[in-house]
Amino acid sequence: MLVGVDERRKVVAEVELIIRGGVAVTMDAQRRVGALDVRVVGRRIAQVGEHLSTRGAARIIDARGCAVLPGLIHSHVHLCQVLFRNFAEDRALLDWLKERIWPLEAAHDETTLRTSTRLGLAELIRSGSTAALDMGTVRHHDQVFEVAREVGFRLQSGKAMMDGGDGVPEPLRETAAEALSESDRLERSWQGAAEGLLSYAYAPRFVPSCSPELLGGVAERVAAGKRLHTHASESGEEIALIRRATGLSNVAYLARLGLLSPRTTLAHGVHLEADEVGLLAQSGTSVAHCPSANLKLASGVADTVALVARGVNVGLGADGAPCNNNLDLWREMKLAALLPKLEHGPAALAAAKVLEMATLGGARALGLEHEIGSLEPGKQADLAVVDLQMPHVQPLGPASEDVVTALVYASQASDVRHVFVAGRQLLRDGELVMLDESALVADAQRDARAVRERAGLG
Ligand SMILES: [Zn+2]
Repeated sequence: MLVGVDERRKVVAEVELIIRGGVAVTMDAQRRVGALDVRVVGRRIAQVGEHLSTRGAARIIDARGCAVLPGLIHSHVHLCQVLFRNFAEDRALLDWLKERIWPLEAAHDETTLRTSTRLGLAELIRSGSTAALDMGTVRHHDQVFEVAREVGFRLQSGKAMMDGGDGVPEPLRETAAEALSESDRLERSWQGAAEGLLSYAYAPRFVPSCSPELLGGVAERVAAGKRLHTHASESGEEIALIRRATGLSNVAYLARLGLLSPRTTLAHGVHLEADEVGLLAQSGTSVAHCPSANLKLASGVADTVALVARGVNVGLGADGAPCNNNLDLWREMKLAALLPKLEHGPAALAAAKVLEMATLGGARALGLEHEIGSLEPGKQADLAVVDLQMPHVQPLGPASEDVVTALVYASQASDVRHVFVAGRQLLRDGELVMLDESALVADAQRDARAVRERAGLG
């Protein structure tokens, strides 16, 4: 697959790279799909066009038989929970949190949080993802950013904020003032770090674990231009709790507090009334659709057709490894395409719209639509090269809609060959460049045991 690779360089900086011979799925304004080469100079895409000259290129990647697409973008994920994979089964949301996730998060130390983050980023990169919106746990959150910087991944993240609610273990409890000041410190430390790869989103966990004082403090920051990432309207139990406490629906309560905005992304939106969808549309709030997690916790199925019809931006996310159990946007794309057919019929949501959710929709959910989400000159060179020659994808016609359909319904994570973030190669011929996978798996097994034992669940 690789031609003329300069093996001496692991890091591509200000080097010209041409990805040639592939089918580019640009996601540009014309949604061009076709035989287009991509020229990358340094961190950015310089040119997308037919038969680009390779003169001067330090590296050429032969993408014949492959699709070249913008890297997939998770709009909602929890890297801190990756170590809890396969250990929080068959529970609804509130029991899942109280019996497993919160005790396990409370048992993290810096070492185990780093391992969890590395394991999550390994899976994201292997599956063609180049950016994610992440919610952390309450403590040690610098470690998540440190690891993302070491790996070269584009991450928008924030520590979980929680100052109330039932069943929260002592190590995760904090006051509103502590939650806000620690978040402010993290935001000052990490916003724009790693040459812009890292950014901050304030992350109150969800209304049942946040006081009005805490949410009011976050609203002040949102009004001042900061980003917000929280869960909303995921489960029936959750929205019943909120209605009992506030007399309002979840989204109406967030609106009253001033938390809806173009800088806000709400994960889930499974249980939304029509007026709530209207509030999301009016305010420019994004929704992160997480179909696997919603099915596994038996939360329900978000009506993405209604959201799209009202003009709400929808991205896709895997949510946490313990409620999925993968961080694989190919699976989420397929489910996002299939589930609306139950309610709205076989033509409910076009494959092209689903691919948009996983690329441009995610970019908008991170507020980075001017930088990532499509293959266009001037944008960051965040892209994935995906093999289309596999038996589970073929036969495939030459029409552009065939390629998009194949990507959404037939392709899978293991088809991803190369991944670049800001022009730097993080996956090379299916191998992770910045992470030692066998050492990582051994660390993950050891550290998962340590966390379970500390949580009293070993
Ligand atoms: Zn979540």
